Amino acid sequence: MIVTIDGPAGSGKSTTARRAAEALDYVYLDTGAMYRAVALGFLRAGVAPTRDGAAAVLPSLHVGVRYDGPQMRVFLEDEEVTSQIRSPEVGQTVSDVSTLAPVREYMVEEQRRIGRAQDEVHGGVVLDGRDTGTVVFPEADLKIFMVADLDERARRRQQEYAESGDERSLDEVRAEIAERDRQDRHRDLAPLRRAADAVELDTTDCTIAEQVAFVVDHVKAHSKWGT
Ligand code: C5P
Repeated sequence: MIVTIDGPAGSGKSTTARRAAEALDYVYLDTGAMYRAVALGFLRAGVAPTRDGAAAVLPSLHVGVRYDGPQMRVFLEDEEVTSQIRSPEVGQTVSDVSTLAPVREYMVEEQRRIGRAQDEVHGGVVLDGRDTGTVVFPEADLKIFMVADLDERARRRQQEYAESGDERSLDEVRAEIAERDRQDRHRDLAPLRRAADAVELDTTDCTIAEQVAFVVDHVKAHSKWGT
């Protein structure tokens, strides 16, 4: 069972995908975390996110994913970078890095490989990202497209920052999210968009428990009826 959850930043994808995967005993694959690891590789190499930069960095860059129970850990070579990829610097670079064709080719190939391998072992995978239902697994069993109002998404992201001790104004966070949306929706390659066969979930007024139940119920209905 391949389940994809795509949508803009702050729509609730990651929390929902992780908890739904736990509830179903599936594996969670956070594709954004993999792009963030590549962005960290560019930053560490001191290379700009351009095609030439990609040609210099990618041949020696290996992004790996390992699982500790349901917890996904991200590696650059053998070094765990699960927390480093959440830094503001990585957040500012990742959208530029993810517009590069060689980066996307590398990521999509890895995500398909990991997704299929984990699906075989665990009987199901929940992926989240921007193109998981349109490009990575266009043949996914269930596709969900999550949306939420910009103000609500900014409020959630502001709270996440505050929880890590980073106090930011709502206006600043709203502008940051709006810019990331613009970049993700308007890039030439694999732009953020809803797949024609995706079910839309507006999480503006939803609790996390409701979002998780929505995914789990759809998976169960699919397993029962094959629709
Ligand atoms: O999901 P998260 O916000 O961590 O993703 C970081 C960035 O990685 C996104 O803003 C987007 O530019 C890129 N990304 C992507 N395709 C995906 C997942 C993430 O281009 N499937």
